[in-house]
Amino acid sequence: MTPINTGLKAIHDLREQLEARTRQLKDGPLQIASRQTTINTKRAAFEAQRLKLKQLKVTSEQKSLQLKSNEDRIRDLESKLHAVSSNREYDALRTQIAADKMANSVLEDEIIETLERVDELFADVTETEAGIVRIEAELKTFSATVQEKEAGLRQEIEELTVKVSDVESVLPPDVIPVYQRLVAAYGAKALAPVKERSCGSCYIGLTSQVMVELKSGKIKFCTCGRLMYFVG
Ligand SMILES: [Zn+2]
Repeated sequence: MTPINTGLKAIHDLREQLEARTRQLKDGPLQIASRQTTINTKRAAFEAQRLKLKQLKVTSEQKSLQLKSNEDRIRDLESKLHAVSSNREYDALRTQIAADKMANSVLEDEIIETLERVDELFADVTETEAGIVRIEAELKTFSATVQEKEAGLRQEIEELTVKVSDVESVLPPDVIPVYQRLVAAYGAKALAPVKERSCGSCYIGLTSQVMVELKSGKIKFCTCGRLMYFVG
């Protein structure tokens, strides 16, 4: 390989490493934010479940009070049975008592149903809360790892930036403006190795003339815009 081809390959490799490190540096905080959003969503669901549980408990208590008050009423009606003077009054009371007992039986079923729902929901709330505690702990560990890696990544990025700048000195001055535009547009992919007489980016076949020029270290851009280099 000619110095220019060696240099272009070095630029390509270093720019790829630089991009990978930069991506990793951005990925950490993005993943933390995404996990935090999941936690917030779960926490909102948890609060809704807790509110529903509270409401169900109130409903259950109200129904229990209603049941107790109905039972008192039934007892009161039953005590009046002895005091009635006519059969008609007696029958009316008996009918009323029967109807009240029927209503209470329905109410009892409703209370049992509500209590079952309270138990189920309590289990759900407990599970949701445990899940939140778990993923919060996981996020804490993850955030610490991200933070730990951050300093190292910044250091590597700094070093790679210097190295890239160093190897870029291989570029002829007249090529630099085009090269800079390409890098701004494509990043590390601004450069493409030539493999089996084809551009490594768009795979277009190259003529013998272009191959000879590349091998001799001439700067060549592919029709796809990439700065090609020959790796032999
Ligand atoms: Zn190409």
